[in-house]
Amino acid sequence: MNKEEIVRILKCDDEKEIKALFERASGIRRQVQGDKIFAYGFVYFTTYCRNNCNFCYFRRSNDIGRYRKTEEEVLALSKALVDSGVNLIDLTMGEDPLYHSEEFETVLRIIRKLKEMGTSVMISPGVVPDEIIDRFKEAGADIFALYQETHNRELFRKLRKDQDYDERMHAKLHARDCGMFIEEGILSGVGETPEDVADSLLTMGEIGARQVRVMSFVPQPGSPMENVRTPDRMEELKIIALMRILYPDALIPASLDVDGIAGLKDRIDAGANLITSIIPPKSGLMGVANSVMDVDEGGRTVEEASEILRSMGLRIATDKEFKEFL
Ligand code: SF4
Repeated sequence: MNKEEIVRILKCDDEKEIKALFERASGIRRQVQGDKIFAYGFVYFTTYCRNNCNFCYFRRSNDIGRYRKTEEEVLALSKALVDSGVNLIDLTMGEDPLYHSEEFETVLRIIRKLKEMGTSVMISPGVVPDEIIDRFKEAGADIFALYQETHNRELFRKLRKDQDYDERMHAKLHARDCGMFIEEGILSGVGETPEDVADSLLTMGEIGARQVRVMSFVPQPGSPMENVRTPDRMEELKIIALMRILYPDALIPASLDVDGIAGLKDRIDAGANLITSIIPPKSGLMGVANSVMDVDEGGRTVEEASEILRSMGLRIATDKEFKEFL
């Protein structure tokens, strides 16, 4: 699929064609991995951040309640998630100055202990120096996540205020070059054009991302973009389908963070093959986009997700199956 074809599909509003697109994408997913869907536990262990991204609730200037979980808390929450059946722990942090000052020793220890527990680990640390990325790899991290959000440099400057496009891309490519899988991701509904989306989708392949993601923008109270409307979900669903068709064996998340558990089925039907943002209820942990939606109600659990998958003739993969896939 070339850029013109991707743009044409993104602009298409013919119901029959869109239905066929989703059928093709979910058919490819079934061909590649049968009835298995992967599940990631989300441990957003510090919501402190030195950055001021215009779309983010946790941006430095937002006057909000923040938390920083201790090492023991992170390990206990991760164990509970693993015991509940997730295939991987996604350790996510804002660019917290505390961890930068101690050179990530606590985070490295957590990764090592999680690996001793036998689980796969994804680390989402923001932009960090190459030496630290090397040490994440040595500690055993499997996937390194760092989303550009857009590959249009002008739009990037508006979204990720005072941050460097090339520095961010460099960190991601360094992680790839030292042997980790990398995740690339974009935001939908932040002023991008269909051409921008097509460029992003093609870039994901060019940089060798094994996990590719799109999430719809959700306006965050107190942020400069709080009055920007959340986009129609059709754009996100079409992008998921296009990613599946372009990259048949990619890991493509259906995030519970945008529309909660109610948004799971549509994303899987569009070709996603993994569920992200599974969070233990009443853990004090938050998501990112819709940070508390369905969390304490127990909506974001393996149990709830499994029930929906069962009704679709699908199931959560075993740990062995996930490791074989990786
Ligand atoms: S998106 Fe990430 S880096 Fe940007 S302000 Fe939010 S937590 Fe910080």
